Amino acid sequence: MSQRIQSIRGMQDVLPAENALWHTLERTAADVFAAYGYEQIRLPIMERTGLFERGVGEVTDIVEKELYTFEDRGGESISLRPEGTAGAVRAGVQHGLLHNATQRLWYVGPMFRYERPQKGRQRQFHQFGVEAFGQTGPDVDIEQIAMSSRLFKRLGISGLRLEINTLGTPVERATYRDALHAYFSAHHDSLDADSQRRLDRNPLRILDSKNPEMAELIASAPSLTDYLGAESAAHFQGLCNGIKALGIDYTINPRLVRGLDYYTRTVFEWLTDDLGAQNAVCSGGRFDGLVSQLGGSDTPATGFAMGVERVVALMESQGVPLDDLAPQAYLVHTGNTASARVPALAEQLRDALPELRLRVHAGGGSFKSQFKKADKSGARLALVFGDDEAADDTLQIKPLTDDRTQERVGLSEAPARIAALLADGRG
Ligand code: ATP
Ligand code: MG
Repeated sequence: MSQRIQSIRGMQDVLPAENALWHTLERTAADVFAAYGYEQIRLPIMERTGLFERGVGEVTDIVEKELYTFEDRGGESISLRPEGTAGAVRAGVQHGLLHNATQRLWYVGPMFRYERPQKGRQRQFHQFGVEAFGQTGPDVDIEQIAMSSRLFKRLGISGLRLEINTLGTPVERATYRDALHAYFSAHHDSLDADSQRRLDRNPLRILDSKNPEMAELIASAPSLTDYLGAESAAHFQGLCNGIKALGIDYTINPRLVRGLDYYTRTVFEWLTDDLGAQNAVCSGGRFDGLVSQLGGSDTPATGFAMGVERVVALMESQGVPLDDLAPQAYLVHTGNTASARVPALAEQLRDALPELRLRVHAGGGSFKSQFKKADKSGARLALVFGDDEAADDTLQIKPLTDDRTQERVGLSEAPARIAALLADGRG
């Protein structure tokens, strides 16, 4: 036997057993986004590397350490997307969707970051993202927080905490940046290596440090709130009032700066205590400068991204109700005459019952072994078609998950009986 090839570290298969979780999340998210008038956009998973350098920011973990970059056969530097916003903006500008127009968009798909794989952190992971373009907010910021909150509620997930903050405008941030630089410079010897490196290039990112030894120093650092101008302060007040008016609980976390460079004013994060260190489930905020930075006209924008694997892990640990995708009926059959008729019979049943999930036994074997497979499939009904049934155009229907009795029905009545038995809540 040849040696087996394994998947790449940090890149996971989603096996059929986990699929109900993913399907439930994907369906519910699509429903909720549509309920707010957001339209889906489908984007390539690769872009020119320069898009992420300009769009995400060169002094970010994502671009400095985590980008999957390679040269294609034409010698161009290409990267697998580490997030969806840069591509969404690129597409919006390229297709003229953003000029003098508002857009509400969402996307879902794989993202790639060369991180240290651990629970809740993969190298290929998936995100839902939403982006609204053309509105200054805070009304759409509030809308997106409400939308994420509604999605969690619809899924049946509880126990999430909402943290919000404001990052002000670039000018306000520059003043704050100077204050931070002075503060951290005065404590230069207490900074870890990452923070020393960031001190001159981007001291705000020190606030994003995950090193517990840095926590105390960060806690005493100056706060951006003290450097906000009147408009930013009013925007943030409007955000807080709006969220409160919807009855959504939140806390203000002045240390919430987010890992990406492009945010302005609103930032928020939904956090959980159920997933260990990887506690961020959904992160978002406003990025008013990004569209013009990527060559479009000045366009305010706001969005969020949600980690699919982390939401799936919460759905699983909290045991939320899932879409049922298992076969509902399993057709067992023996005898040459009967088996020859089975493909046509199955197609007739599917014509009559388009919603029916019917698995037809393949590969022969005794009734006993076929019934074992029927039980294992999770189907609630076994449909039995042998030569006796073929002779008089009947079908036996045997409930598998409760004690209702087996019945023999004519083929023409079979669809109605199957539907009635499945509709009856038992089993
Ligand atoms: P973290 O602080 O956990 O690294 P982040 O700030 O890098 O998250 P974003 O870039 O804002 O995350 O991405 C939005 C969401 O995508 C996160 O809240 C998280 O749920 C999810 N996410 C980010 N990176 C990963 C990863 N490597 N594996 C799985 N999910 C991830
Ligand atoms: Mg990260």
